[in-house]
Amino acid sequence: SIPLGYFGGIGLASKNGILFKGSNYLDVMTRINTVVMDKTGTLTKGVFEVQKVVAVGIDEKELLLFAAAIESKSTHPIAVAVVSHAGDVLVGVKIEGIEEVAGHGLTGVINGKKVLAGNAKLLKKFGVDYDSAVDEEVDTIVVLAVDRKYAGYITIADEVKEDAGQAIAAMHALGIQTVMLSGDKQSTVDKVASLLGIDKAFGDLLPEHKVDQVEALKKEGRRLAFVGDGVNDAPVVALADAGIAMGGLGSDATIETADIVIQNDQPSKIVTAIKIGKLTRSIVW
Ligand code: ADP
Ligand code: MG
Repeated sequence: SIPLGYFGGIGLASKNGILFKGSNYLDVMTRINTVVMDKTGTLTKGVFEVQKVVAVGIDEKELLLFAAAIESKSTHPIAVAVVSHAGDVLVGVKIEGIEEVAGHGLTGVINGKKVLAGNAKLLKKFGVDYDSAVDEEVDTIVVLAVDRKYAGYITIADEVKEDAGQAIAAMHALGIQTVMLSGDKQSTVDKVASLLGIDKAFGDLLPEHKVDQVEALKKEGRRLAFVGDGVNDAPVVALADAGIAMGGLGSDATIETADIVIQNDQPSKIVTAIKIGKLTRSIVW
């Protein structure tokens, strides 16, 4: 039988916008010593804005049209930013065969031209050379190629969530190690990690690399919570001792897989969940 205190714990969590899918996770949260987090949408708002458009060997308007056309088929936060920045340019544009390359970006045919839009890894994968300005940008970027020729890039920036720094500090005060995993490039990842005071941060990760990282931490004997939002995060959410999903922005697959759902997407609720777990335990025992 489940002790009464656990019901109290689940109810208290629910009043705080935290959904526990089983009373055992209240206990699991009290034993966590490592919190692993995704970056985009988990620690940052996941709302990108275009900062800069750099066209190379092509008109800037044309570059934006190719970018917006290909990104119009994606729901990625990066895609949403590019499409909204370009405005009403897609009327009469022929968009064909768009494919998403996980952790890289998109390929497709726009007005009969082969277009690539994604990170530098995507261009490398297709053997397209680009100039060094791409690697020097600190912000997230979308690099473009048209008919196998580098055509420039768009920089976009995201903001950290208001309570993210405070949440990380509170985890450290509880003796918890913090780790950030991201598909975004290392320079952007390092910038966010140092801003928030995160212990360890790994970028340029494909979804399967996130799984490898979490498996390695588990082998080290770490008891870990993983917090994510994206569809790519579902496998790692499943693997963690406590899998946590951001419920507002989160993808359905990740929310479904999670043991705990944070309804308003605030990172500080991770700390609240640990504290409620501890409080419940002190009442039960
Ligand atoms: P994360 O949520 O950690 O950023 P993703 O796997 O969603 O992980 O994306 C990894 C990287 O792949 C992004 O940072 C971006 O560089 C690139 N990418 C993914 N989808 C797109 C897209 N639609 N347009 C441009 N770049 C993309
Ligand atoms: Mg994400």
